[in-house]
Amino acid sequence: MIGVTILGSTGSIGLSTLDVMSRHRDLFDLVALTANTNVRGLLEQCLAWRPRYAVMADSEAAGHLQGALQHEAPDIKVLSGQAGLQEVAGCAETDYVMAAIVGAAGLLPTLTAARSGKRVLLANKEALVMSGKLFMDAVKLNGAQLLPIDSEHNAIFQCMPGDFNGGLEQTGVTRILLTASGGPFLTKPLRELSGVTPAEACAHPNWDMGRKISVDSATMMNKGLEVIEACWLFDASAENIEIVIHPESVIHSLVEYADGSVLAQLGNPDMRTPIAHAMAWPRRMESGVEKLSLFDISQLNFEKPDPNRFPCLGLARQALAEGGTATAILNAANEVAVGEFLGSRIRYTEIAEVVKQTLEGVAKQPADALEQVLDADKRARDYAADQCRRLNS
Ligand code: NAD
Ligand code: MG
Repeated sequence: MIGVTILGSTGSIGLSTLDVMSRHRDLFDLVALTANTNVRGLLEQCLAWRPRYAVMADSEAAGHLQGALQHEAPDIKVLSGQAGLQEVAGCAETDYVMAAIVGAAGLLPTLTAARSGKRVLLANKEALVMSGKLFMDAVKLNGAQLLPIDSEHNAIFQCMPGDFNGGLEQTGVTRILLTASGGPFLTKPLRELSGVTPAEACAHPNWDMGRKISVDSATMMNKGLEVIEACWLFDASAENIEIVIHPESVIHSLVEYADGSVLAQLGNPDMRTPIAHAMAWPRRMESGVEKLSLFDISQLNFEKPDPNRFPCLGLARQALAEGGTATAILNAANEVAVGEFLGSRIRYTEIAEVVKQTLEGVAKQPADALEQVLDADKRARDYAADQCRRLNS
């Protein structure tokens, strides 16, 4: 049995992971479930799955969970805080870690999983955006396996040769074509964007996801983060990666080779496919996803992203070019701005403005040590929060 820890089990990816695992109870053993503050959600999962550990990042919430489990499942060990998350990510019983915490909060436990030589199923792209070099070094040094869950990166991984070991040129890869749905505002008149609500921004046409990534998909910051993610995962440079808007979300990405071949991975937009792929790799297993019907789809469309509609794409590429802590600053500013937008304290169009100002205003340094990354994250959060307060006053 393979021991699995799910970081962020109450979220959208966490729930899809449990759904896939429920189809393969003979293969996987659930070691730990974790959540931030959702006591009720984690309690329900604990009673249904009986993991060895349950972790709440919030210590007060951990107390409530402990109280509730005391009678019904006293054998489940309740842990809390970053220490608890890191313990279950690195413990001996865990073989696979599903890294599905949203945002920078997932960095340390995900890094612990890599440092402990686990198979890391990476959904938490923000961790890689913040600390790409450190993270990839930790994977290599400790013999961890890094498998992408992000649907595009999982698609690219599937289209790469089986022995791919970094370096696009040796492999004969000339381009990575990263597809994007374009989100809910692809055709909305530009002058109306400043008035859109959080609910409108979260109503993604094809994917059902957490609120933060849904807003990132609307601004296409998500695609910007994914360009950075792809550079680290596939040892690629920004010039090798082209973003293609493909509103149907059926082709999850493509890889172009020197001989003119272009390989694509297709499927219904359902995260259980990449999750099942990464959990079963190098084999395949049933995921519960409805089979693709090309006749029902009948047409696929492609277009280039408009930089005026999606300024976050340019900001992400700019941070990538600057290197060092610039991408951690980009990520932190975006997390703060998206949080403020979701709280209706800044406008949708101000998200990009806050990120731009923070990228300009916070000093960058190399990102060779974790302290540098965490320091950049903190300074960028403070700076971005100030910008939001100014916009709001
Ligand atoms: P979500 O908001 O639905 O779930 C987030 C999970 O993280 C929850 O379990 C929550 O309890 C936990 N969490 C939140 N803050 C935390 C904190 N401070 N400490 C510890 N735990 C915390 O998010 P999601 O949509 O499942 O996305 C998770 C990650 O996967 C994100 O990085 C996202 O970019 C990535 N991803 C998601 C999808 C998708 O379809 N949802 C697709 C690709 C990539
Ligand atoms: Mg994606």
